[in-house]
Amino acid sequence: MINEYACRKVALRDTKSCLVCHKPSTTVLYNKSGPDWFYTCDIHLQDNPQFATPVYDKEYENVLTKMKSLKNELNSNAGASGSSWDSWVSKVFIKMDKDADKPKDTDPANTPEPAVRTQAQIQEEYNATLDTLTTLRKKNKMYQLSPQMFESRVQLKKREEMLKEQRRKQEEAYTNTDPDELLTKFSFPQVPNTSTNEDNGNNVNPGSI
Ligand SMILES: [Zn+2]
Repeated sequence: MINEYACRKVALRDTKSCLVCHKPSTTVLYNKSGPDWFYTCDIHLQDNPQFATPVYDKEYENVLTKMKSLKNELNSNAGASGSSWDSWVSKVFIKMDKDADKPKDTDPANTPEPAVRTQAQIQEEYNATLDTLTTLRKKNKMYQLSPQMFESRVQLKKREEMLKEQRRKQEEAYTNTDPDELLTKFSFPQVPNTSTNEDNGNNVNPGSI
C-alpha cells in the first residue's frame, strides 16, 4: 500500500463518523493502492502534519519555483545580488547614492534584468503568482498520512487481511468436506421406493448410499 490518499466528498446520505473525532462527516480519504479509506473532518487536513500533509503536483511545484525566483529578484533589486558580500556592498551603495543603482562589482549577468523590468512590474507578477499558488493549494486533493498514522492503517489492513484469510480457509475446509460424509451427517430416512421391502431395509443403512 502506498501512502497516497485522495480527498473525496460523498453524498449526505453516506455520512459517517470522522476517524479522529467521531463527528459526522462527508469527507473521505481514499487510497487506491490499499484499497483503504476512512472518513475525516476537513479541518483535520489543514495545518495538521501529525495527521496528514498535502501532496502537490508538478504544476504547483513549478509555480512555487517561479514565485521563489521572483522573490529573489525583488530582494536583489532592493539591494542584494549574488553573494552576501555583494548584497552588503549594494546596500551601502544604495544608501550612499540612490542614483548609483548598479555597483561596479556586481555580477554583470544580473544587471540587465532589473533594467528591463521595474520593481513594480516584478511585484505585480509576484502577486499574480502568489494568487495562482493559493488557488492550486485550495484545489489540491492529494494527501500523505503522517508515518504513525499510515502505519496504523497498514496494521489495520493486515489484521483485516488475516481475518479474511481465516474465513476463506474455513469456507474452503467446509467446501472440501467429502460430500458422502456430509450426506451421512444429514441423512434423512429414505422415502420407500417401488422395489421390495428388503431393498428399502438395506437402503437406510448408513454408508450404503
Ligand atoms: Zn473530526
